Amino acid sequence: MITMERDTETVHEAYSFVCLHCGHGWEEEYEIRHTTDLAGHRRADYFTRGVRVTSPLTRAECPSCNRGPLRILRPGRVNSTRPYLA
Ligand SMILES: [Zn+2]
Repeated sequence: MITMERDTETVHEAYSFVCLHCGHGWEEEYEIRHTTDLAGHRRADYFTRGVRVTSPLTRAECPSCNRGPLRILRPGRVNSTRPYLA
């Protein structure tokens, strides 16, 4: 299979998760590769520690109790120095 990618942008973002069922909290850093193919379609692939994973935004299981639901926080955005936090 040939993939034709003309544009790849990699960013790192840390997400914090809190399980609303058992109260377990943890943080995980994701490497997110944004690519645009020749047809102009945008896609994002998520990796943790070099392993491709599903989007943290669709994650629904707690590693502690295997239930949920989860609440997702994004400390990387909250504590950033971006001047656009209106
Ligand atoms: Zn839990």
